[in-house]
Amino acid sequence: MRYSGFRVLREGLFGHKGWKPAWRDPAPKTHYDIIIVGGGGHGLATAHYLAKIYGEKSIAVLEKGWIGGGNVGRNTTIVRSNYLLDGNEPFYEFSLKLWEGLEQDLNYNAMVSQRGILNLCHSDAQRDAYRRRGNAMLLNGADAELLDPDQVRRMAPFLNFDNARFPIKGGLLQRRGGTVRHDAVAWGYARAADSRGVDIIQNCEVTGFRIEKGRVKGVETSRGFIGAGKVGVAVAGSSSRVMEKAGMRLPLESHALQAFVSEGLKPVLPGVITFGAGHFYVSQSDKGGLVFGGDIDGYNSYAQRGNLPVIEDVCEGGMALMPMIGRARLLRMWGGIMDMSMDGSPIIDRTPVDGLYFNGGWCYGGFKATPASGYVFAHLLSTDQPHDTATAYRFDRFRRGYLIDEKGVGAQPNLH
Ligand SMILES: Cc1cc2nc3c(=O)[nH]c(=O)nc-3n(C[C@H](O)[C@H](O)[C@H](O)COP(=O)(O)OP(=O)(O)OC[C@H]3O[C@@H](n4cnc5c(N)ncnc54)[C@H](O)[C@@H]3O)c2cc1C
Repeated sequence: MRYSGFRVLREGLFGHKGWKPAWRDPAPKTHYDIIIVGGGGHGLATAHYLAKIYGEKSIAVLEKGWIGGGNVGRNTTIVRSNYLLDGNEPFYEFSLKLWEGLEQDLNYNAMVSQRGILNLCHSDAQRDAYRRRGNAMLLNGADAELLDPDQVRRMAPFLNFDNARFPIKGGLLQRRGGTVRHDAVAWGYARAADSRGVDIIQNCEVTGFRIEKGRVKGVETSRGFIGAGKVGVAVAGSSSRVMEKAGMRLPLESHALQAFVSEGLKPVLPGVITFGAGHFYVSQSDKGGLVFGGDIDGYNSYAQRGNLPVIEDVCEGGMALMPMIGRARLLRMWGGIMDMSMDGSPIIDRTPVDGLYFNGGWCYGGFKATPASGYVFAHLLSTDQPHDTATAYRFDRFRRGYLIDEKGVGAQPNLH
């Protein structure tokens, strides 16, 4: 069933009796050519592109809970491609281009809103670094503008410009960045993949891998064994736990990251704003709530909830940047588990087991990567070759020392 304005009108006139479930609820078959473990944004996008671009016919996505219950439905919805390094920027720009055509591709309203992202700088050195980053973005075909303090003031007059400790010296603006409704992305990809014959199997936890003579034969699940020619794992914060079942120890740590939403306010924020002197970023949802977040919790955890010291730290950042936020009431907050890699960049690669592929290590930033991650993972699964934009995301970069040191903080996930 295609969605359209006409369809909404027609259903409105006839009592909304014609809507169908957005995807089927199939029983698992005994064998698939390709199984994707994890029904988050990345797993569902992979299935969609496998079917649509690479013409694969026998695909299942196995999700232990429900579609959209993981990080894809828990993040703060920011999309952007404002990276510096060669291994990253072409990939994230590819992703932003896919976001720009996503709703037409999926025939689904994901509320893609290119309202802009502004990274504030608070020292001359930081402005120089942003100029360099902006130039790297332009060289890779992305958009970037360096704003002076007056331009920032015109855009966001409520910011604390003359804070003695963190004066605002300008900002790097990417107008094509913005927000996308997070869980609609999961639903849109699920519906599109399902319409091309992909089986999306919820409440089906992968509990082990059947590996014979170095080759994967299928997965053990809470609903029995399912055979597969190839298996792609895209389970984000659960990566270490799932890959451990295939005998692998990953260069990842899992930490909780929290998100916060205030009561609904009249439109006040022009787009996404990030504080350059502390870990705080904020946007405003279409319902009016200020959506904000900051640092990960400082210890490893698989619990999808946060702790009070980080809440205090995030709120301090908010107060330093825009003191008026202190008047808003915090309505709700929640946590998700981040798969933090040791250089802040992801891994999309084959594994030492034939037919078993891995996609993870997204740290804070995997939502914006969803379309490209799915696309390049589909490319890898189907062709056995890395996509041109993802050649740097290999496992062995940690052994060979070819890190993508985007954040330059090495093995300290709590500083990413
Ligand atoms: C609070 C917060 C804010 C964030 N903000 C942003 C942001 O603004 N911008 C941005 O780019 N990124 C952001 N992120 C990061 C982003 O959400 C993640 O990197 C990304 O969503 C991870 O990929 P995913 O969608 O596939 O993960 P998930 O949705 O977590 O999908 C993984 C799925 O695997 C399933 N699974 C796990 N184990 C098994 C198993 N054994 N068998 C079967 N299924 C299994 C899980 O149930 C889950 O549904 C944020 C994350 C959080 C938590």
